Amino acid sequence: MRYLELVELFEALSKTTKRLEKTKLIADFIKKIRIEEIDNTMCLLTASIFPPYDKRKIGVSDRLILKAISKSTGIKAEEVEKLWSKIGDLGDVGEKLLKEKLQKTLEVEVLTTNKVLANLRKLAELEGEGTVDKKINLIAELLANSKPNEAKFILRTILGELRVGIAEGVIRDAFAQAYNVEIKDIKKGMDLALDYSEIVKLAKQGSFKLVKIKVGRPLKVMLAILAADIDEGFEALGKPMQLEFKLDGFRVTIHKLGNNIKLFTRRLEDVSKQFPDVIDVVKKNIKGDNYVIDAEVVAYSPKTKKYLPFQTISQRIKRKYDILELAKKFPVELDVFDVLYHEGESYLDTSLKERRKLLTKIIKEKPGSIILTKCLITDDLGKAKEFYHEALSKGLEGIMMKNLNSLYKPGRYVEGWMKLKPILEPLDLVIVGAEYGEGKRASWLTSYTIACSSKEGLKIVGKVSTGVKEKDSEVTYESMTKILKPLIISQEGKSVKLKPKIVIEVGYEEIQVSQTYDSGFALRFPKFMRLRTFEKTIKDINTLEDVKRIYEKQKGKK
Ligand code: AMP
Repeated sequence: MRYLELVELFEALSKTTKRLEKTKLIADFIKKIRIEEIDNTMCLLTASIFPPYDKRKIGVSDRLILKAISKSTGIKAEEVEKLWSKIGDLGDVGEKLLKEKLQKTLEVEVLTTNKVLANLRKLAELEGEGTVDKKINLIAELLANSKPNEAKFILRTILGELRVGIAEGVIRDAFAQAYNVEIKDIKKGMDLALDYSEIVKLAKQGSFKLVKIKVGRPLKVMLAILAADIDEGFEALGKPMQLEFKLDGFRVTIHKLGNNIKLFTRRLEDVSKQFPDVIDVVKKNIKGDNYVIDAEVVAYSPKTKKYLPFQTISQRIKRKYDILELAKKFPVELDVFDVLYHEGESYLDTSLKERRKLLTKIIKEKPGSIILTKCLITDDLGKAKEFYHEALSKGLEGIMMKNLNSLYKPGRYVEGWMKLKPILEPLDLVIVGAEYGEGKRASWLTSYTIACSSKEGLKIVGKVSTGVKEKDSEVTYESMTKILKPLIISQEGKSVKLKPKIVIEVGYEEIQVSQTYDSGFALRFPKFMRLRTFEKTIKDINTLEDVKRIYEKQKGKK
């Protein structure tokens, strides 16, 4: 397909603010895509260079884009930069400069969606000496062959935002319209496939509902909603229910296909290389040629035989060197709690009770290396409370409560699972603004405005500064400033507004009703506990409902 066809769709989308019109434009477009072009076109339509389960990064900074524009137009980088600070959007800058240049050039190659994506994907493969120049050349080559409006959208794709007002919901609606299918079925399919191109392909073949688990391709894991207490668990999940220890490690789904074992995090990142010890344990102690298993990797001290908090192993996740050494220094135990696929069969539609039974058959437990997460099936409130207190006395986060008949629902907060942690549990919130400090802290962002989610968008619940150190810590004002600065949207005096991207865990002493913030609540004595960017995105933060519930519960306790 000519890239211009897609650009024309983007332009039409940016000319209307009406959701229904946008939906129709996309629906008509999706129907037109030929089957062999679906993969690439769906990527470009969602401003992604790789499919959602492929976590390769192209590593292109604003500055590099600036140089590529300069190279392809022959205009000095300083001039391009000046225009950028005036216009604010590098895509618009590229379009404007190419319009001016176009009057001078004659022949250009016709760009196809395949060519655009191929060049952009090459960016991720470059490494080592001369990388920057090679990247500039790849982008400049595309720009040199672009019409001005094509350049605008190529640049915006590199930046990861098309700015044509198509949130995921619109694409989903368009898909439903194009193929006359129900939104809930699309959602279900997407939680497994993660990728619209697979869904579109199936729909074109008339077998849309047949999305299947593919061993080796990550999928969204099942999640739990927050419960106020055990009673609420029994009420929502029925009697008896299954209680499990809730461990403070990190979630992995383990995929085995033949000899190939892969570990994916909850955010779909492949961490197989970082955990050769876990791979080894899996190989030796889980029966089967192919499977997908859900588990928690927890830091474990062989000396004290106790679990350690997540921070102990957080550094293992991103580590690229000395991996074996680090594995020895920070050993882990694999706590398995679910199975989604085994020996060619999907267990998504099998009850938890049966899935657990299968786990007991295929896992050889070896405490300190691999166990089935400790569980208790009971209808007795007293026993359940005892189990909860046992978890807390072992220093664990709390418990999970699960409906014995629940099916495995990837990616959704549904009725099947609930989590229970001590009241005033820390909240996961997103940073939406920040303030520069005073005196010697003037160049650092030292106070962070934090928000929870709600049906009406993000709602502020306070500002946090305590807990971040000046130096000698994993999280310092300097490191936070580095992370947050690229996200600045606007500045007024010392305050900046930020793109909501960085999720942090915040502790506090109390939740108060307050007129100060638009949530109607304020955290008293908030404390920065840790960065959650590795495990959580803005979609995973706590909701206003959670805040209200904790507030109510705390009121009841007084
Ligand atoms: P939270 O991070 O507080 O939203 O809690 C959800 C996380 O708890 C999951 O993503 C898992 O990583 C973790 N978890 C720990 N133990 C269990 C368990 N027994 N069942 C399910 N998830 C668990």
